[in-house]
Amino acid sequence: MKGKKYKAILFDLDGTLINYDAAQKYAVTRAIEQLGKSISPDLEPKVLEQNVLELVSCDAVQDIEACRPGWMPADSKYMQDIFTDAGVNLPSGLFLNNYFEAMSQHGEPPPGVIDLLVSLKKDHTIGIVSNGLGPVQRKRLVKAELMEYLDLLVVSCEVGYAKPDPAILQLAMRLADSTPETTLFVGDSIGSDMRAAEAAGVDFVFIQPDGDFSSPGSRVLELRKTADLKSFLRSRHS
Ligand SMILES: [Mg+2]
Repeated sequence: MKGKKYKAILFDLDGTLINYDAAQKYAVTRAIEQLGKSISPDLEPKVLEQNVLELVSCDAVQDIEACRPGWMPADSKYMQDIFTDAGVNLPSGLFLNNYFEAMSQHGEPPPGVIDLLVSLKKDHTIGIVSNGLGPVQRKRLVKAELMEYLDLLVVSCEVGYAKPDPAILQLAMRLADSTPETTLFVGDSIGSDMRAAEAAGVDFVFIQPDGDFSSPGSRVLELRKTADLKSFLRSRHS
């Protein structure tokens, strides 16, 4: 990426600009509290919390959260069966409603992210392309105090495309008035972010906090922390 001028820098949200693991843990704890401990009297609270955490990370729940094609409603029999099979004795629709509501109250950018956006905003168009529920992601961005740095925000459930469909990045580029050649996309997911960037022909920065960059796929840069992008873009201008 050295020497290349990007007009627009687009970011994934969860795990890239705000802390997703902490938000999930917070929302699981809150949703269990709201429904009362009697929901699963046989399970130790810590075991229940761990089971629910695994449940909200499963594909079926993640599909709802992203509005991926074919997602099944939270209160469907399909979803209730997944809860039951996981040993979680909770009404799936009510629980997931409370879970997403609690999730919307948690927005926490990792250290250095706001400094990065302040710095990039001087000479780039800044956008977010997120797989998520519109009201949830918007509330979290307000909570994280990130809204003021954004020139555009594209959320899958609001636009009808989800990453890895390149259409969602193409929409963001139209809003940014940029092209694949002048756009950089930054994200932490292989299946959603990296694949969407590849399909759209956009340069990709791969974020992996654990430093495991073994997954194959195109990228112009690998970083453990999004905030470190600042020094790379700075050196590019020097
Ligand atoms: Mg992510």
